[in-house]
Amino acid sequence: MTNQLKDHRQIGAELDLFSFHEEAPGAVFWHHKGYIIYRILQEYLRNNLLNEGYLEVFTPVMVKNDLFKRSGHWDFYNKNMFKLEVDKEFYSLKPMNCPEACLIYQSRVRSYVDLPLRIADFGVLHRNELSGVLGGLFRVRQFTIDDAHHFIRPDQIQDEIEKLLVFIENFYKIFGFASEFFLSTKPDNAMGEEKLWEEAEKDLEKALKSAKVKYGVKEKDGAFYGPKIDIQIKDSQGRDWQLATIQLDFQIPQKLKLEYIDKDGKPKRPVIVHRAVTGSLERFIGILTEHYQGAFPLWLSPVQVAILPITDKHTGYAKKIADKLRNAGIRTEVFGKSDTLQAKIREATLQKIPYLVIIGDKEIEKNEISLRTRDGKDLGKLNLSNFLIRVKEEIEKKV
Ligand code: ZN
Repeated sequence: MTNQLKDHRQIGAELDLFSFHEEAPGAVFWHHKGYIIYRILQEYLRNNLLNEGYLEVFTPVMVKNDLFKRSGHWDFYNKNMFKLEVDKEFYSLKPMNCPEACLIYQSRVRSYVDLPLRIADFGVLHRNELSGVLGGLFRVRQFTIDDAHHFIRPDQIQDEIEKLLVFIENFYKIFGFASEFFLSTKPDNAMGEEKLWEEAEKDLEKALKSAKVKYGVKEKDGAFYGPKIDIQIKDSQGRDWQLATIQLDFQIPQKLKLEYIDKDGKPKRPVIVHRAVTGSLERFIGILTEHYQGAFPLWLSPVQVAILPITDKHTGYAKKIADKLRNAGIRTEVFGKSDTLQAKIREATLQKIPYLVIIGDKEIEKNEISLRTRDGKDLGKLNLSNFLIRVKEEIEKKV
């Protein structure tokens, strides 16, 4: 029997994770189980951000065009923006969070000691992809990036980037992704001071070296507004994906006239680092879905434990066990339909639920559970508290 690899759209339908509808092309309808994955990933990223001293904000989706004109995005991006007229004023649905992060930056006088200032935003973004090229979670019109903007002094570039590189590499390791980094250098149409470019490129290279990551150089492939580092991963099927980007930006601070007061009391321009780790959460979950072929690791599984009563008379006891697991924070589902045990095992296995707990007369009598995995491994009998310890440890370790 060949093991046919499935597309994330097919897996999403089979596991009841998400769907797409003509009524909102290119926008994801997250079903309960898919939204659990979304929320857990977002929570994990958020907790790490907060631990690293980021400030999380949430900014408006509908923004006056004037802001994008001032930030310089309009000229390059307005073709991909959804525009609306409200009360004779012109607005767009934001395609990126940067200009609004800048407004927050400017809401106070910033001093050199306040930097780096790291502003994170899981804002809802819209970009108008042609409907012909929309494709499941990989190409959507509405999405969320795990986005952050670091406002830093030029002398902070190396340190700041090095920390980011280490964080990104460690994040990908959790999923078994090997990462590769690419430094893109000054293109011919670059804007900004020559000296600033040169120093920034050197700083990025030093950061790549001291973070001890594998990297290559893409000559002249930087954006016109600053050098960048692209991060590529390889999935379980050997496919390469570009997810994260770390982009230095000398232009937006200039255009929006951002300042900080330096040691000498004079106003200076900060540099912005635009950075995302997963890219869009939607696309990342699409990649994970195919990478794991729906068999998500325990910590991400929408249902972590299936409880299978052997017959209807064991269902009451099965529900009690389920309550105990749920109280301990374990996502649990009782397969209480009248069906054979074989059919229940088959269903739980197809649903890729990591642990199958079987309850019958013997288990009730001895106050134990019989445990199986979704790969068909029989783990024998054990008592509930030992099972709980095992599950919690595995969730903690993200295996
Ligand atoms: Zn940005």
